[in-house]
Amino acid sequence: MERMKIVNALNPAAVGTEVTLAGWVRTARHSKGGFSFVALNDGSCMANIQLVAGGELANYDADVLHLTTGCSLVVRGTLVESQGKGQAVELQAAELTVLGGADETNPIQQKRHTFEFLRTKAHLRSRTNSFGAVFRVRNVICRAVHDFFQQRGFLYVHTPLITASDCEGAGELFRVSTLDHANLPKTDDGAVDYDKEFFGKETFLTVSGQLEVEPFCCSLGDVYTFGPTFRAENSNTPRHLAEFWMVEPELAFANIDDDADCAEAMLKYVFQTVLDECAEDLAFFNQRIDKTLIETLTHIVATPFERISYTAAMEILQAADKEWEFAPEWGCDLQTEHERYLAEEHFKTPVAVMHYPESIKPFYMYRNEPDEQGRRTVRAMDILVPKVGEIIGGSQREDRLDVLEERMKECGLTPEEYWWYVDLRRYGTIPHAGFGLGLERLVLFCTGMANIRDVIPYPRTPRTAF
Ligand code: ATP
Ligand code: MN
Repeated sequence: MERMKIVNALNPAAVGTEVTLAGWVRTARHSKGGFSFVALNDGSCMANIQLVAGGELANYDADVLHLTTGCSLVVRGTLVESQGKGQAVELQAAELTVLGGADETNPIQQKRHTFEFLRTKAHLRSRTNSFGAVFRVRNVICRAVHDFFQQRGFLYVHTPLITASDCEGAGELFRVSTLDHANLPKTDDGAVDYDKEFFGKETFLTVSGQLEVEPFCCSLGDVYTFGPTFRAENSNTPRHLAEFWMVEPELAFANIDDDADCAEAMLKYVFQTVLDECAEDLAFFNQRIDKTLIETLTHIVATPFERISYTAAMEILQAADKEWEFAPEWGCDLQTEHERYLAEEHFKTPVAVMHYPESIKPFYMYRNEPDEQGRRTVRAMDILVPKVGEIIGGSQREDRLDVLEERMKECGLTPEEYWWYVDLRRYGTIPHAGFGLGLERLVLFCTGMANIRDVIPYPRTPRTAF
């Protein structure tokens, strides 16, 4: 069977050809005159194609008259110009075979379902308009990310998901273990004997591929990793998942400004690609989810991002006439309410906040000279966007051996544990910088969807792993 996708069948240039289509019935209307109109969708685009099936079909009474929402079928016929309103092309069916029936117990019926309800039907929700659109856009975003980096000569490096270092994830790590938890092996002094673990030590799921990608940056040049990451943080928010995908480029011979340039260019490239290639899905989101979506994306692509220091951001927040849940104070991390105020209300555009206090950032960020007031900052860079808040977190990396070792000790880490990471500063150290982009936050921003659980195929959050 040479199947044509509906997205191609709907192209007016295909009119007059004989084709085979396959998909799932969205609606079926049976007219008294002995023919039926069936709206068929195969996921290749938002639009359904209308099938016109007449009583001359041998199985008309047996099959066609019983078609209901959710049935799957294969149909052969001729594409013709549509007489009806709302579509240019329809299929005059010559032969129709039902693959699978679906009765009224099918949870996905042709009516509005809430996103909350559909989250409990993750295996079927991609049959709806909203989720079909989300996952088509997600696909285009991923391809655009790869294209952006590949066109610029970045190498795609696969970093491991299992890690023995827990640098960033204090308290947020999922343990990887093969031990019997009902009967843990103990050492003589009663502690768990991790020597009996599969790897002979404690291991965890990675919270970031950055540390492991840096060695490749310090040999192959510009690189990126793009894969799943895991955080056991108990954040039941619309912006946190326990399992999410992260894009992490690492730029060789680059400083924090190069890093921010790269992040801005990448985001704009993705937005432009989505605008160009997902017009039908974006129009749907613009109508149903966020009336300013297309306008916002179009504006952002054409406008330089704001860039300010953390210290300047604090001054803006402190001067703002707002009732904060957390009062903004130099030395504290930006809360989502602060991030959203800056991007959404103050600048009304994406903003890169740079040079955060050293005390709230990890050991690997490049240490700045103290400011006039003696306060220490590091070359960190977060990109904040309206509605979502932080979408990217990055930094220039500390490339001075002595400073790195000092910082590690201050953070309670032993340089010996990270000997391989420290080696990069011992042999041929170079300035380099990178960032982590949360894929799902990017999908949220590009679709206007409000909850991160609705932009990943199978969301994993506290107490939920379907
Ligand atoms: P936040 O402060 O929003 O919790 P973070 O500062 O802990 O994020 P980073 O460690 O900087 O996050 O990770 C880089 C990027 O990964 C973030 O900018 C964000 O886009 C994404 N990200 C981080 N944590 C999560 C999560 N739990 N679920 C989804 N995306 C996340
Ligand atoms: Mn961050």
